[in-house]
Amino acid sequence: MNRYVLGIESTAHTFSASVVSSHGEILSNAKSVYVAPKGSGIHPLEASRSHASSAASLLGVAIEESGIGVGKISAVSYSMGPGLGPCLRVGAVVARTLCSLLEKPLVPVNHAVGHIELGCLVTRSKDPVVLLVSGGHTMVISHSGGRWRVLGETLDLTLGQLLDQFGRHAGLASPCGGEIERAALRSTRYLGLPYVVKGNDVSFSGMLTAAETMLDAGKRFDDIAFSIQETAFAMVVEVTERALAFTGKKEVMVVGGVAANRRLSRMMSAMARRHSARLRGVPLEYSGDCGAQIAWTGYLAHSKGVEVPVNEATVSQSWRLDSVDTPWRS
Ligand code: AMP
Ligand code: MG
Repeated sequence: MNRYVLGIESTAHTFSASVVSSHGEILSNAKSVYVAPKGSGIHPLEASRSHASSAASLLGVAIEESGIGVGKISAVSYSMGPGLGPCLRVGAVVARTLCSLLEKPLVPVNHAVGHIELGCLVTRSKDPVVLLVSGGHTMVISHSGGRWRVLGETLDLTLGQLLDQFGRHAGLASPCGGEIERAALRSTRYLGLPYVVKGNDVSFSGMLTAAETMLDAGKRFDDIAFSIQETAFAMVVEVTERALAFTGKKEVMVVGGVAANRRLSRMMSAMARRHSARLRGVPLEYSGDCGAQIAWTGYLAHSKGVEVPVNEATVSQSWRLDSVDTPWRS
């Protein structure tokens, strides 16, 4: 029998609610994104206020668009972490309230696992090496021994933070990745930036400082944007390539908001070809933060008995994905 799970995402700038079916159909995926004022980063409290004010109407849209009555929902899942405390708490409160009203089970979901599992669903990928590149994450991941394992990660800034912080330094409004991609297309002039790979980890803080210093010294924004992309993307492709060679897997998937970048896709695809591996591209709508990630992973987890009593449902701001058991993959 088809079952339906409603998932709630609220880790950072996006509040999203979605209904998915146990057959893997995404019946709705309503989103509202908090946009920080020009030149400033995401303010957790302001973002959480925006989430709180859009939550009720978005839930209504998600349920209405799904075409199923609210009575058919068999479980509610929510992003328990990692993320910004005030934002996570809004999602948790909404999820707890819904579960109490509907008398349905509550399923906590790790946001990063959500990115990966929805990516696997929509690309039909079975066992990929994953590059998760977003505002909150930069990690190379592979499944082994009942968990998603981290084979490389950033030591400081995430790739999304590098792009957004550089963009904001230049006066753009966050998120800046799309604008930087367009600027990079207007240049082919490479300016040397620090390329820092340590073991299989990456570091971007030196690159950010160098790029900001170049901009302040009058170098062209487009040339720096081009150089940041060439350098930073080469770094993450290098560590993904090493993970692929090490694991011998034959699929590579890029998820997270930065996956939208076409230059990164081309570099990843050339690398995958060299290893006779297939690059699995996640459609834009599902690569950035969204409720469908939480609803689908909530379904997978609940099918193996994962749930939490409503009065014990908390949030965990720094919940690592490699501490999460994945019984649905065993
Ligand atoms: P997420 O946290 O998964 O929603 O991803 C948000 C991040 O994706 C932000 O840092 C954006 O700047 C970045 N991003 C969005 N579009 C692009 C793009 N076309 N190229 C590079 N980064 C992007
Ligand atoms: Mg995310």
